[in-house]
Order: sequence, then C-alpha cells, then structure tokens
Amino acid sequence: MTVLLHTCCAPCATHCIEVLCALGHTPTLFFSNANIAPESEFYRRAQEVTKLANIANLPLIIDNPDHSEWLARVAAGLESEPEQGARCARCFQYALQRSHRQMRASGLDAFTTTLTVSPHKLSDLIARIGREISESEYLNLNFKKQGGFMRSLELSEEHDLYRQHYCGCEFSMRPLAD
Ligand code: SF4
Repeated sequence: MTVLLHTCCAPCATHCIEVLCALGHTPTLFFSNANIAPESEFYRRAQEVTKLANIANLPLIIDNPDHSEWLARVAAGLESEPEQGARCARCFQYALQRSHRQMRASGLDAFTTTLTVSPHKLSDLIARIGREISESEYLNLNFKKQGGFMRSLELSEEHDLYRQHYCGCEFSMRPLAD
C-alpha cells in the first residue's frame, strides 16, 4: 500500500519508516506541524526530516505551517492544559485531518502517524482520532511496540539527527524526559 506518514520529526520517523517498509508499504513523508513554535524550530525540524527523506530515498511533502491558525483552532482556551490533556487531543486531530486530506490529494491508499512512537503520546487516543477521520483509510500501527522508541533513538544516533527537547508548541517548552 502507498501510505502517507504524518511525520512529527525525523527521529520518530526513522523507526516508522523501517516498520512500514518491512510490512511491504511505500511511505511518503508528510511534515505537517503547524503546532511548532518558534518558526526557527519548525525549519530546523523540517531540515532534519529532509535529511532523513534523502537517506531513505523517500518522497517528502512539507505542509505550510500556519501557526496562527493552529493557535486559534487548537490551543485557544486550552493554553494551560498539561501535556496529554485536551489541547493535545485537538492537536492530534488537527494534524491527522490535514494528513487525511493530503493523502487523498496525493492519491495514496492510507495514512498513519509517527506520533505513536513517543512514550509521551497516548496511542489509543491517536488511533481513535485516526479511525474517526476514516476507519477504512487510517492504518492503525502502534509504533512504540516492540522497543520502537529505543530503536528510533539508535537510528537517530546512527544518522546524527537532531532530537528536540520539547514536544512542539510554546506551551510545551520544558525538557522532555526520555
Ligand atoms: S504539547 Fe505537543 S501534542 Fe500537545 S498541543 Fe503542544 S505540540 Fe501538540
């Protein structure tokens, strides 16, 4: 199957690419992260994803980052929510909806997301949101299974990829523990 892989960052994508290819799928990376602030950080992460796409020889689409729209549609009223709270659920939905739209526009078969690699992210919630958007087109993979996160760390080191220390939005700017 041709699969649009919503890509939050290069380190998380390393392992997801490996899994998708092992399953016989053909991934297209989709860097759609209007959540990221400041803008310089968006471009730093995008640059690393470009590097990874070149290493893996895979197509990459970079979505236009409209952070003002993201603030209005996702974060408004939820600025003080903790991570894994209501703001994050809306953030996942925003990214997955854009990914679904891009999957259709690119004529691909399915979509999924790197977000489930992270031990900080709620895989069941992400799966439910993906299925609500499209039961038949969401490829439900929990990438953190079978040591997925550790594998992503190994591959990131191997490829010398930048690993950020906060999730993405300005409300998450405190160090993440591994
Ligand atoms: S903490 Fe991360 S998942 Fe939650 S709203 Fe911010 S960028 Fe999105």
